[in-house]
Amino acid sequence: MAKKVIKKSWAEPFKIKVVEPIKMTTREHRERAIKTAGYNTFLLESEDVYIDLLTDSGTNAMSDRQWAGMMVGDEAYAGSRNFYHLWNNVKKYYGMPYFVPTHQGRAAEHMISQILIKEGDYIPGNMYFTTTRLHQELAGATFVDVIVDEAHNPTNEKPFKGNIDLKKLKALINKVGAKKIPYVSMAGPVNMAGGQPFSMKNLKDVYKLCQSHKIKLWFDATRAVENAYFIKMRERGYAKKTIAAILKEMCSYFEGIWVSAKKDLMVNIGGILATKNKKFFEKARNMVVVYEGLHTYGGLAGRDMEAMAIGLDEMVEFDNIRARIGQVEYFGAELDKYGVPYVRPVGGHAIFLDAKKILSHLPQDQFPAQTLAAELYLDSGVRGMERGVVSAGRDQKTGEHRFPKLELVRLTFPRRVYTQAHIDVAVESIVAVYQNRKNITGLKMIYEPEYLRFFQGRFEKL
Ligand SMILES: *Cc1c(COP(=O)(O)O)cnc(C)c1O
Repeated sequence: MAKKVIKKSWAEPFKIKVVEPIKMTTREHRERAIKTAGYNTFLLESEDVYIDLLTDSGTNAMSDRQWAGMMVGDEAYAGSRNFYHLWNNVKKYYGMPYFVPTHQGRAAEHMISQILIKEGDYIPGNMYFTTTRLHQELAGATFVDVIVDEAHNPTNEKPFKGNIDLKKLKALINKVGAKKIPYVSMAGPVNMAGGQPFSMKNLKDVYKLCQSHKIKLWFDATRAVENAYFIKMRERGYAKKTIAAILKEMCSYFEGIWVSAKKDLMVNIGGILATKNKKFFEKARNMVVVYEGLHTYGGLAGRDMEAMAIGLDEMVEFDNIRARIGQVEYFGAELDKYGVPYVRPVGGHAIFLDAKKILSHLPQDQFPAQTLAAELYLDSGVRGMERGVVSAGRDQKTGEHRFPKLELVRLTFPRRVYTQAHIDVAVESIVAVYQNRKNITGLKMIYEPEYLRFFQGRFEKL
């Protein structure tokens, strides 16, 4: 008897109109390339990469609508129509009345940190993000991680491991006083925890606590759409709500947001700073002319702002975000067949291989995740990146390495770029490296830049 077909598969909600050839390389070629790059995948030439899972930042494929939008760029120095289109969509989707464009996310982080932070302040956040924390520290603050403990445990399957631990936040308020905390910095899904979301309930509780101490709440909304998707799929009461409605509700609890448009908005460059606070807005609008450009372009071309405006319409489409996260889930399910350890549950934008477990014979000061990323490239030309001791940097006071609990290799999925066949090739390569793990030796650092060392640090095989 013929088997009944159960219709539960989905496919990408688009078809391919333009293609970009990629190059396969030999093992000898890759050995030379990774050595020249100091065993740092950030220093590889992209021509030498086969499947590029380094980051989903600005690596997205734009839609035909977005490309058409590029042609109607209004490149007036002041008052470009694309700026007003973008501003309208910022109001529509994030619900924030005031908006300053920036060339990317960290430019907004810089302005927010400089405006809100005084020397000696504390900024609590649900785990750190590299550029976010650095700007907070450069402005004179100490970052304090108040994420729930589960976030540090890669085998814990809890659905909202990006939540803030209210007890930790209360303890900090009691210890340093609310006056020393200009704002709580919340992000979701939390990149460094493996793309783990926070729940709406947690956000509401954090909001109440902050209100009672007159502490502001600011949102790194770079990946907010992914967080909204997880709330829809996992949290009671949200299954029937649209992604747009959930996003709007999330944003309603914050005084302001910043966004790297290179993520959710599916463009190649751009950033957003938006707020409900008019006074803050006036300061930011004044500052943007110093660092970025006039407040109606903020370091962007008119055409970039048009692509962002259209990206905002597309990012909240359910089929689009389901296909994106569905691809990550497919990758995870394939790895499960071979028992390769990664951070669970599968996150919103990436698979995070558990390098501590895979290369358990390497001590953390031999950079297991850095090593694993290099080995994966050597095997197949698949490029991922380190998220472990190298990314964590050094303690500002003691100058020692910060040894994070998680030592991960991040394989991140550019939006609308790779097919399921690419995913299968990447999985096969990971499995090959995993099965050969016992023969892999560690690395030693031979060059260390002062800031964000994971970008430019260089290593040698031990
Ligand atoms: C990418 C990112 C940033 C920084 O944005 P850029 O556009 O790279 O400057 C900040 N926060 C999060 C969560 C990000 O993913």
